[in-house]
Amino acid sequence: MKQKRRDFLKTTGLLVGTAITASYPAKSLLQKSNGLKMNGKLKLSYKPYTLDLKHVFTIATSSRTTTPVVLTEVEYEGIIGYGEASLPPYLGESHQTVSEFLSKIDLSKYENVFNLENMLNDIDKIAPGNTAAKASVDIALHDLVGKLLNQPWYNIWGFDKEKTPYTSFTIGIDTPDVVRTKVKEAEEYKILKVKLGRETDKEMIETIRSVSDTPITVDVNQGWKDKNFALEMIHWLKERYVLFVEQPMPKTQIDDMAWLTERSPLPTIGDESVQRLEDVIKAHGVFSGINIKLMKCTGMREAHKMILMARALGMKVMLGCMTETSCAISAASHLSPMVDWADLDGALLIKNDVFDGTKVIDGKVTLTDRPGIGVVKT
Ligand SMILES: [Mg+2]
Repeated sequence: MKQKRRDFLKTTGLLVGTAITASYPAKSLLQKSNGLKMNGKLKLSYKPYTLDLKHVFTIATSSRTTTPVVLTEVEYEGIIGYGEASLPPYLGESHQTVSEFLSKIDLSKYENVFNLENMLNDIDKIAPGNTAAKASVDIALHDLVGKLLNQPWYNIWGFDKEKTPYTSFTIGIDTPDVVRTKVKEAEEYKILKVKLGRETDKEMIETIRSVSDTPITVDVNQGWKDKNFALEMIHWLKERYVLFVEQPMPKTQIDDMAWLTERSPLPTIGDESVQRLEDVIKAHGVFSGINIKLMKCTGMREAHKMILMARALGMKVMLGCMTETSCAISAASHLSPMVDWADLDGALLIKNDVFDGTKVIDGKVTLTDRPGIGVVKT
C-alpha cells in the first residue's frame, strides 16, 4: 500500500509543471500526461471531536473551556485530504448541524477531482449558512488536490513561503496578576492580541504595558456602542502602541462605523461585519480592512478570492481563526504570505491537537514543505 502510494505520488509529481500552469487540469489532460487512471471515487467521512482549551476563553459576550469541532476526510484512490469545522457556540453551528449538512453531500458523483469551483459551488447551494461545515469540505478537498499534485498550496498559488507574517497571541481577560503572568509567558510572540469591550479596558492595557512593550492589537467584538467614546478610546490606545482595532462597534451601526473609520488614527478591521466575499465590497468605506476566517467564509477558495478583492479595493487584510486544530490553522496559513496581519494562534490555545502542521516559531507563522495543507496526523 505504502509503495503504491509512493509510486502514485512520484508519477503525479511529474505533472506539477503542467498542473500549475493550467491551474486545475482536466481529468483527460492528467490521464494523457502520465497514464494515471483517475477512475476513483471521492469519499467524504467525518467525526465529531471536542477541543480542550488551555485557559478559560472569555470575550465580551461569553466564557468557555471547550470548543466542538468536526474532523473531515476526503479519500481518493488511497490518498486522504484532511479538513475541519470549528464550532464556537456563539456562531450557531454544532456537531449535529454539521453532521446533518455533511450527510447531504455526495462527492462520488464528481469525475474531475480538481474541479473545486464546481464542487464547492454545489455544496454552497445545499443550504444557506453552515459556513464551518462547508469549510471542512473545502479544506479536505484542497488538501487532497495538493497531495495529488504533490505540491503545498502556497506553491500552487505562487506565494513566497518566507513572507508569512508574525501571528498575534491572545491574552484573555483576567485579573491583573493572571494577565501579567500570561504576558510574561507569551514573550516569544511579537504581537499580543487583547479582547476589549468591557468596563476594564484601560486597566487591561495598562496591566500589559506594566510588564511589556510588545505591540498590541485589540478586538472589541462590537463592544463599544457610542462612536465618540470609541474615537476617544482609539486615540488613547494609539498612544500605548496599539496597531489596529478590530470590530469596535456593533455590525448594525454601519454609519457610525464609517464615521469612526474616517477619523480613526488607527486602522479599523471588520470581523463580525465581514463574513463572505460579498461582504468585502460592503466593508469598503466602512472599515480600513477585513478579518478573513476560513470558518466564516466557507474555506480556502473563497478566502483567496476575498484577499484579491480587498487588495483591489485598497483595503488591509488580516487572517484570523477560531480555536481549532493544526488542520484548519495550516489550511489558513498557506494564504498568510498575502496578508498584513495574522491571528493564527488557535492551535496554541488547545491541549489536544491531533495534527502536526504549520507551526509558530519565534512568533512567526512557519509553513512545512509537505503537499496539500501540509499536515500529518499525530
Ligand atoms: Mg474578532
